[in-house]
Amino acid sequence: METCKNYQKCPIYSGLLADIKMASAAYRKYYCDAGEKGWTSCRRFQVKEKGGKVPENLLPNSHMSVEEVIKRHGMATPSAAKPAAAPSPAGG
Ligand code: SF4
Repeated sequence: METCKNYQKCPIYSGLLADIKMASAAYRKYYCDAGEKGWTSCRRFQVKEKGGKVPENLLPNSHMSVEEVIKRHGMATPSAAKPAAAPSPAGG
């Protein structure tokens, strides 16, 4: 099985979050090292894909939706961050 493309910088994968150290092995098994089906079901992966970054302590099985995480952490989606095109001035 392939490993998630985000594993090198992911604190879940590396077990760096002390309070979830024991759970890291399980997360790796069910998400990180479980092939595309595994990592695409990870909330961290989903948030990073949509928002470009991930809150440090977000868990792979978070009950919050991607949109809730992005909103709660004040993250702008790439499409939302782009300024809207200014309307053309009348007559020119
Ligand atoms: S599957 Fe989720 S927890 Fe695992 S490395 Fe990827 S983003 Fe991190």
